[in-house]
Amino acid sequence: MHSDSRRGFIQSVGVTGGLALMAGATTARAADSKQAPRLIDKSPQTLPALPFAPDALAPVISARTVDFHYNKHHAGYFTNLGKLVAGTPLATASLEEVVLASAGNPERRAIFNNAAQAWNHNLYWQSLSPKVSAPSAALAAAIARDFQTQAALESELAKAAVGQFGSGWAWLVLDGGKLKVVATSNADNPLASGAVPLLVIDVWEHAYYLDEQNRRVDYVDGVIHKLLNWENASRRFAAAA
Ligand code: FE
Repeated sequence: MHSDSRRGFIQSVGVTGGLALMAGATTARAADSKQAPRLIDKSPQTLPALPFAPDALAPVISARTVDFHYNKHHAGYFTNLGKLVAGTPLATASLEEVVLASAGNPERRAIFNNAAQAWNHNLYWQSLSPKVSAPSAALAAAIARDFQTQAALESELAKAAVGQFGSGWAWLVLDGGKLKVVATSNADNPLASGAVPLLVIDVWEHAYYLDEQNRRVDYVDGVIHKLLNWENASRRFAAAA
């Protein structure tokens, strides 16, 4: 991206709701990264509704796991975030703006961890569906261009998810016009580096331990082959392309 348009974007992120002052450090960091942050979402700092019934993902992910994961973990990140930003200009920012304004800033580590985990889980639930789906023609063409086959993409995604050491996430992203598979640790996500996440698999143990115990590979295999929401990934690809 041209440096002028990058500056323009960063300024537009920074001025929202008096964020300009607080986002100063982020501006410098974002300008150093290879691409400007590119957002296709503007989400409130509140827990969104689950897009399916709690038992809809069984047997790959049980209703009990969904209940704990959504009502305790995901909800908890929003509760913590609300306490951390209360009374600051970040309280009125979108969830994505909070992630960008805190990424890489050691003084805002707790804010980043909770905002990013809230955002990552928003996309995680949107990345799953009990309904079998397939990529749109446009996304399928990009998959053929960048991975040759859908099976090759799924295999790379499985490798990233299973191979992530400790807690983290495996993502399909659009990065500089190219589809890529990436893994991140803990709360980290690809937003601050300018990539647009299309779908994500949670590989924290809380995502599968009640159902699969240590068998992350079985959870990942079930998610990839039975639950991925390609309709939603296609919508995000169309918005980002
Ligand atoms: Fe999780």
